[in-house]
Amino acid sequence: MEEHVEPLEPIDDGSLSALDPSGRIALSGKELLESPEMEEIAKEVIKKENMDLRPAEVGYLLVYPNISKTVVAKCLKCSREVKYYSGYDYLIEISGEAWDHLDSKTRYMLVYHELLHIQPVFNEKKEEWNYRVRPHDFGDFYEINDKHGADWYKTVQSTVSSLYDMNPTEEGKITL
Ligand SMILES: [Zn+2]
Repeated sequence: MEEHVEPLEPIDDGSLSALDPSGRIALSGKELLESPEMEEIAKEVIKKENMDLRPAEVGYLLVYPNISKTVVAKCLKCSREVKYYSGYDYLIEISGEAWDHLDSKTRYMLVYHELLHIQPVFNEKKEEWNYRVRPHDFGDFYEINDKHGADWYKTVQSTVSSLYDMNPTEEGKITL
């Protein structure tokens, strides 16, 4: 596998950093692909887990080879400009190589996790929706942990860790 060195890693704080031109952003060497497969899984999750995303429109992208080695997935609120051109309020991005190595159950859980970051809030005064990115409860969400446990999360971490030959310290930094 070709080694891809990324000098400027986007910071995964769940904020807009990856779409903010003033933030640290690396455009080179990344390929974005719309993923109808991820969209299908998302539809299944939304139905099975009884999720209500309100009027939020979501785009699903795979980033090859990865968002970064330690960022498996992220949920971004779209900027006004991205909304204008794409119609999406949020983008869910997943690292392509990691996605390709995950089993279908873990893919389901990963998409479920990212969908839980979506939090549209209705502003009564302005009578419009504000699209917020919900932070984790503790690295994951209680909804998931209470019902599905944490094994899937460890599966994601160990899959990515073996994919990129990481040591335990690096493995601990893997986020989604
Ligand atoms: Zn997350």
